Amino acid sequence: MAFENFNVKENYPGKNLTTIKVGGPIRYFFEAKTKEDLLEVLKEAKRNKIKFYIIGSGSNLLIKDEGFDGLLIKILFNNINFLDDKKVFTDAGVFFSKLVDELAKKGIYLKFALGIPGTIGGAVYGNSGGQTEWIGDFVEKVFVIDTNDFQEKILTKEECNFSYRKSIFHEKKHLIITGALFNFENCNYKKDEFLDFLKYRRQTQPLSEPSFGSTFRGVSVDKLPKDVLENIVEQFPEEKNKINEFFEKGIVPAGWMIEKCGLKNFQIGGAKFSEKHSNFIVNVGNANFNDVISLINLAKQKAKEKFNIDLETEVQII
Ligand SMILES: Cc1cc2nc3c(=O)[nH]c(=O)nc-3n(C[C@H](O)[C@H](O)[C@H](O)COP(=O)(O)OP(=O)(O)OC[C@H]3O[C@@H](n4cnc5c(N)ncnc54)[C@H](O)[C@@H]3O)c2cc1C
Repeated sequence: MAFENFNVKENYPGKNLTTIKVGGPIRYFFEAKTKEDLLEVLKEAKRNKIKFYIIGSGSNLLIKDEGFDGLLIKILFNNINFLDDKKVFTDAGVFFSKLVDELAKKGIYLKFALGIPGTIGGAVYGNSGGQTEWIGDFVEKVFVIDTNDFQEKILTKEECNFSYRKSIFHEKKHLIITGALFNFENCNYKKDEFLDFLKYRRQTQPLSEPSFGSTFRGVSVDKLPKDVLENIVEQFPEEKNKINEFFEKGIVPAGWMIEKCGLKNFQIGGAKFSEKHSNFIVNVGNANFNDVISLINLAKQKAKEKFNIDLETEVQII
């Protein structure tokens, strides 16, 4: 039998593993407290031809109602080690907020990361941050286990191929992030900006409600044809200045489009687009996967009709 010598839980409720509190049973669930645990359980899964999936804190994750018929591994190892005042190594299981706190103690204010839930593994995977600033900027090296040969490898920042909410790890699912080395030498945010940003986040995002953060990626202006951009301006002449700001920044926010499609506050079952931030879907009571995916599909359809734009999901779905 698979996983006999491991502390694996069977048919674990997936909704307990995601911040939106949605998801069916996980066939096998394992918490990796050390890198060695992780390596051994991955080998056992391979021996038994059982598919696996890695999670950090499930804050960018949506699990289907039928659950996941494989091994789900939550990374818990969480050492943090400053090599000097600007350089720090963190295990993949370190909370992003813990890193932000430790940096602030040293006078480094990682503004865009303030209030982002999740682990360093999840942050590196999704290049977490804002629309134009992200964690990948400060990565020097990423440490991985390659599940093709179970060797530990080191990727340089360039090899990680970071871009807006993307990294090489989206394509190379066989690479499991175990830690990262960061260099914050060029992090020049001021303490005031940092504190103001937290206030702004609290005012504009439904942080106390169950969600997975942004549902869709913002849309890159340079990927949109001229007629699509002109159509946006023509439809909302009263918001010309705001739209010009989007164009200058290079991103049309998905939340703005969802609002203009009339979906702010729109609810299906127990899930709704938040009143505070239209790109956030919140679980207002026993939402299931179908409620959430119906909202996602509706927004995609409406954005296509109204703007001729294909919205791309930011949340990872299994
Ligand atoms: C209220 C709220 C606000 C948010 N605000 C932001 C924001 O401002 N900016 C932003 O970028 N995100 C934001 N998010 C989304 C989310 O917090 C981030 O994407 C976060 O970095 C995900 O980390 P996690 O540990 O929860 O990853 P999970 O949700 O557990 O996993 C996400 C993906 O990363 C992969 N992954 C996780 N760990 C590893 C690993 N060790 N090796 C390989 N792959 C791994 C998983 O397989 C999955 O595909 C927000 C979420 C919430 C709920």
